[in-house]
Amino acid sequence: MKFCWCGEEKHEVISRGNWRYLHYVLGECQNCSAIRTIGYDCISSKPAPNLDLKNAGLGPRHMASLKTIKENYIDGNLLDVGCGDGKLDQYIRKNYSGIKKIKAVEKSRLIFGLMEKIDGIEYGNETILDMNNDEKYENIVSTHCFEHVKNIVETLQKCEDLSSENAMLYISVPNVEYVNFTNFLGFSPDEHCWHFTKKSIRNLLEKVLKEFKIVGFYESKIWDSRDQLEVVLKK
Ligand SMILES: [Zn+2]
Repeated sequence: MKFCWCGEEKHEVISRGNWRYLHYVLGECQNCSAIRTIGYDCISSKPAPNLDLKNAGLGPRHMASLKTIKENYIDGNLLDVGCGDGKLDQYIRKNYSGIKKIKAVEKSRLIFGLMEKIDGIEYGNETILDMNNDEKYENIVSTHCFEHVKNIVETLQKCEDLSSENAMLYISVPNVEYVNFTNFLGFSPDEHCWHFTKKSIRNLLEKVLKEFKIVGFYESKIWDSRDQLEVVLKK
């Protein structure tokens, strides 16, 4: 893999704010401003120690994402890219009547084994790159997944392949400019390949996606104000 998704090899080593307390090196692309972990082969994804995924409820990150998804989803099928604990999809299954089929995919075998699976949701221990393009979705949502994804360009392009006409795409990621040492779960350099800023995620989505256009862009709160970036796109 090249240093950056945009093909640029030059990067500037950066150390800002609380990042200096963590012994990882981050580099910022001189072409597109993407920030990457350097010299560490990030893993995707391990749960926090002793986390009970089956009995955990909705957390602050789910609530923040659900609010925006509720305002923007359209009737039809829904695909969750990197569903993690699966709680978001459970809530949508029970509360959003316009949603027909739900497919939830999670690449991590560990997380997939720990998560609770309910009737009415189709689960896959895979990435969307493994999916057949004949499947089409009116809604594609991805919460706190893209920061883990190495082949980010192919994965975004695949979202376009799997989306129906007039589809909605919702992406949320940690906002690295506002995560700090007390909430550093939002900044896990050993698990996160990418560390997004408002500028860098906009650059990425606008350059890579050909069919989707950004219609909503928010800095929202998980633990601290503005520590989550949310983007709503429509075809
Ligand atoms: Zn770049």
